[in-house]
Amino acid sequence: MRGTVRIGTLAGIPLELHFTWAIIFALLSWSLATGYFPQAVPDLPTGSYWSKGVLAALLLFASILAHELGHALVARREGVQTRRIVLFAFGGVAELKAEPPGPGAEFRIAVAGPVVSIGLVVFFGILTGALAVRPGAAAVAAYLAMLNGIVVLFNLIPAFPLDGGRILRAALWRFWGDLPRATRAAAGAGRFFAYFLIVTGIFGMLAGHAAGALWRVFIGLFLLMAAQSAAASVWLKDALSGLHVRDLMTAEPVAVPAHIPVAEAIRDYFLRYGYGGFPVERAGRVVGLLELAQVKAVPPEERDQVSVQAVALPVEAPVRTAPGADAMEALQQMLQAGHGRLLVFEGETFRGLLTHTGVTRLIQIKMALGI
Ligand SMILES: [Zn+2]
Repeated sequence: MRGTVRIGTLAGIPLELHFTWAIIFALLSWSLATGYFPQAVPDLPTGSYWSKGVLAALLLFASILAHELGHALVARREGVQTRRIVLFAFGGVAELKAEPPGPGAEFRIAVAGPVVSIGLVVFFGILTGALAVRPGAAAVAAYLAMLNGIVVLFNLIPAFPLDGGRILRAALWRFWGDLPRATRAAAGAGRFFAYFLIVTGIFGMLAGHAAGALWRVFIGLFLLMAAQSAAASVWLKDALSGLHVRDLMTAEPVAVPAHIPVAEAIRDYFLRYGYGGFPVERAGRVVGLLELAQVKAVPPEERDQVSVQAVALPVEAPVRTAPGADAMEALQQMLQAGHGRLLVFEGETFRGLLTHTGVTRLIQIKMALGI
């Protein structure tokens, strides 16, 4: 997920906010301060409604964080590390670094979040009762009990990648003993539910229930994207499993001489071959990587004077891999560094070029052939 800001770490896990979260936080505080709380507890000063609105939104944020932390901590106990926890408009996600080792672990990780949220429903429910003499504070607690209840209900819908969908996947995984197949089926259920929300949302809008119906369409679209990307990432891991960089790289790729000007590289290499990048060669040795991004950074009027070697990326860790490296890890390295290709070196000897396009094409071929 792009567009996030890291705000710290919790139990050693990086915590990030997606920009959509800030929008929802502001909208939620506003609608609570001007709509919900004035109705729930009338006749308080405006400032008091605003502080309740912001407090309730913050506590909701903390509740969702606790839910995700529940997933992450149980995952850690099951031997799966969490890359980061991201909070965004519709909730949060604890991104695991790997698939759980088995269906039992998947089930325990998936239920951990809802269990935390049920605990919060009980906690805020009791608090509501205990604060009965202070109606303002009780309204905040009641709101959080209700919202955590909604978090539980929403997450238990059997639509992958929601928790309910993960529980479904764990059950199918145990039943079939086949994770990719279980993922496809659970993602299929997720898509079905997403379309259901979108279609009923559109009918709702036609029937004149605009606000609630629009939310259904939004959540449906969000789930659709999430189901597709979760299924695609499992599928990608499956398609690349057991493959190494040497199986996917291009041996003896076209290389650009280091001494020529950028203008010449554009004319005789980029435009001529139609590739997005080339190894850079000097005296028969590969000394760098030149991609469109480095070329674009040179202003057009300077492209006749600046040489390729002045702007090429040096052969360093982010753009370098080895023939025996794991294909999936190499692909992740490429995406994280924001490059479209990696230079493959065996010791000091250049062996070839691994390109994003090449990997994608191979996956498409495998997909077309159903292997
Ligand atoms: Zn969850």
